[in-house]
Amino acid sequence: MADLAVVLKEAAADEGAGENMAKCSFCGKELEKGTGKMLVYISGKIEYFCSSKCEKNLLKLKRKPVKARWTATAQAEKKKGKGA
Ligand SMILES: [Zn+2]
Repeated sequence: MADLAVVLKEAAADEGAGENMAKCSFCGKELEKGTGKMLVYISGKIEYFCSSKCEKNLLKLKRKPVKARWTATAQAEKKKGKGA
């Protein structure tokens, strides 16, 4: 319980500063303030989603960001793999 309280406090502080932008947990896109969705698990893990598309891909379809080609995560991974 104590852990979760700390996490929530930090998240609130970030929001106030407006500088540490949260990144979408699925596609890696930065979330604009006031948009997207933050999901806090009881374990203290936090996930951000820029859209319902990303939320569904991760939670419902259980896709890996690396496997969905349209994500920034996958594109970064692709570049890494091609590096000669
Ligand atoms: Zn996203």
